[in-house]
Amino acid sequence: MKKRLFIYTTAVVFIGLISFFALSVYITSTNNINAAKDTVVEVTQICAALYNEEIDIEEFVHIGSDTRITVIDADGTVLADSGVSRFGMATIDSHLERPEIKAALNGAPESFMRRSDTLGLDFIYYALKVDSGDSYVFVRAAIPVASINTYFLRSLPLLMFVLVIVAVLCFVIIRRITDYTLAPFGEIERKLRSLSQGNYIAAPIKSRYEEINRIVQEIEDIALELGNEKRRREDFFTYASHELKTPLTAIKGFNELIELSNTNSVVKDEKTRKFASAISRETERMTVLVDEMLKLSEIENTEKTTAISNSVPVPLTALIYDIRDTMTTIIGEKSISFLVVGNGVVTADPRHVYDVVKNLVENAVRYTGEDGEVTVTITQTDDSTKLSVADNGIGIPKTDQLHVFERFYRVEKSRTRNSIGGGTGLGLAIVKHLCVLNDWRVSMVSEPGVGTEVTIEF
Ligand code: ATP
Ligand code: MG
Repeated sequence: MKKRLFIYTTAVVFIGLISFFALSVYITSTNNINAAKDTVVEVTQICAALYNEEIDIEEFVHIGSDTRITVIDADGTVLADSGVSRFGMATIDSHLERPEIKAALNGAPESFMRRSDTLGLDFIYYALKVDSGDSYVFVRAAIPVASINTYFLRSLPLLMFVLVIVAVLCFVIIRRITDYTLAPFGEIERKLRSLSQGNYIAAPIKSRYEEINRIVQEIEDIALELGNEKRRREDFFTYASHELKTPLTAIKGFNELIELSNTNSVVKDEKTRKFASAISRETERMTVLVDEMLKLSEIENTEKTTAISNSVPVPLTALIYDIRDTMTTIIGEKSISFLVVGNGVVTADPRHVYDVVKNLVENAVRYTGEDGEVTVTITQTDDSTKLSVADNGIGIPKTDQLHVFERFYRVEKSRTRNSIGGGTGLGLAIVKHLCVLNDWRVSMVSEPGVGTEVTIEF
């Protein structure tokens, strides 16, 4: 923006200056030519008045000092010409065709500006017809004038000099003006960034520009509105969790009672047992869903600073074996070979590392068929720690890979539901949110039928 402002302003100043120069050169040159025309008319009139037959015309043509005087016969022959000696011109050809002579002959004398090829100079000519005995002659005067080009060339060094001075002044002044004008924008940028990071502190900046003050006020209003919205949201989740969890606990309890009484009763009702176990499965699913939603909302409301203050060194290998132990049943059922390669330590909130790795391992095990392989690889270097979870399971189609980190997104709802546990589609959203919160990088490589590898760079 600064650069553009500078270029535009300088261009405008330069164009203005050059136009001004061109115009002044044109006006000066026109004024000079008009003055020269007046002079040449006056000189011709004086000379014509002085002319008579007895005069020595060789002497006569020299009375004009700086002006070239020519006496031309009625037939166009040059009788005498001060230009021959003064300007070194040959004047042997007939002059009857010269426009100023024609004009004088027609009784309407007029001045003409012409270029002398001999001298390469512009002359203004004026002629009068003067009676001489029984015939007449033409008395003509001519003054050399500088052409517009000459004026331009003469003023060029001055123009250059002024342009250089103007360029330097433009540079200094525009720099100051732009710095001064754009300063509030830097402040606005900082405000917007802090707003997007969720740590906005209202601190109105007052600029001398009304437009900027209005923008700042808008930001303050939006920040306030967002702040209110965030309270409202936290309240909603707190209420919703209570409202959902209380009946769930009750349903679970009553269901357990039904199952228990059914087991103990003499007549074992097979149907009731089936329904009770279905209720129990669905309530379990709903409990997981509520817990995941609450976790997601909790992460969203966690400040970066809180995550940092809870950081401790987390040994990754031990953490992975802990996670594996929670899934021994399913790993055993599917005869999945579970491998851990390398080891490393990451400094972070241990619950965050646990949740990220747990979700990835859970997916790898869940979306891999019988006798599959799940490999967790840890790579630790001096400046980074990487953890990747790879499986040789069903894989994810390219188009879905862009969406699997969105909330509730499942590649194939029926497919996932039929898989063990039945996913809710929140696992990878939690992973993504935790990565954003902790500045970790997450990447995914997957191919349907081949497998999936998700890598976290801590
Ligand atoms: P949740 O993790 O909340 O219990 P979920 O596993 O369905 O449910 P995500 O972990 O967010 O949800 O994953 C989203 C979808 O991405 C899954 O439903 C599944 O279709 C696909 N997916 C994730 N990981 C893998 C993987 N390793 N192999 C194949 N598909 C996967
Ligand atoms: Mg999952």
